[in-house]
Amino acid sequence: MAGLIDTHAHLDDEQFAADLPAVLDRARAAGVETIITIATSAPSSAASIALAERHAMLFATAGIHPNNIPEAGPTAWDAICALVEKERIVGVGETGLDRHWDTTPFAVQEEYFVRHLELARQHHLPVVIHCREAEADMLRILRSEFDRHGPIRGVMHSFVGDAALAEACRAMGLYLSFAGMLTYKNAAALRQTASQQPLDRVLVETDSPYLSPVPLRGKRNEPAHIVHTAACLAELLGIPPERLAEQTTKNAFSVFGFRFSVFR
Ligand SMILES: [Zn+2]
Repeated sequence: MAGLIDTHAHLDDEQFAADLPAVLDRARAAGVETIITIATSAPSSAASIALAERHAMLFATAGIHPNNIPEAGPTAWDAICALVEKERIVGVGETGLDRHWDTTPFAVQEEYFVRHLELARQHHLPVVIHCREAEADMLRILRSEFDRHGPIRGVMHSFVGDAALAEACRAMGLYLSFAGMLTYKNAAALRQTASQQPLDRVLVETDSPYLSPVPLRGKRNEPAHIVHTAACLAELLGIPPERLAEQTTKNAFSVFGFRFSVFR
């Protein structure tokens, strides 16, 4: 499978500190041509940009993950606003809502989510959205953004919702990114939903170092493992793996855009 893009990996994670060059070599050998390394805090945004400046196959985002808001200092948001101007930045996030980990008061998560949406809009960048056990609130905030400003350029990362949620997200302009969970034995409902999605709205990602796909479940995840998720999605959509790679790469360019394709 050639020309895949891993649209969501956390390569600044300490689990990659010792062997990132080897991880990138394995990704290339597996057919991954580009990886977007996704930030989770202000320091992580700076670290992700530094990685993208060092390695041509990497691009970065800047943002504060909902679960990391409590440890964000008073200058963190200003730092994000400055970092988002950097050349290797192709998106804002990851941001969103999370009721599973009870680390940040929900009202504060909402406030930061809205801020990220605004920042992305102002800079003509896509937004990378995390949603865990908070679908109704997420849809409410996205609808209010959509009603005021029109289609939202962005990605529902590691999508695990049902067909109705997928349709609501697509109707607002969003792309659906599928991760390793798609391959899990207990994910039949998600596979059913994925099989119904239009080809021009799907993306693949690893969310490395988390949630390694079958048959590597339980191991540290890394971008090379995306081939298993991509093969699974291709089968569900009834297309050859090569066509899936071609289409998801095209979709990644559509949503991550101009800077992304120019600097490849
Ligand atoms: Zn993530």
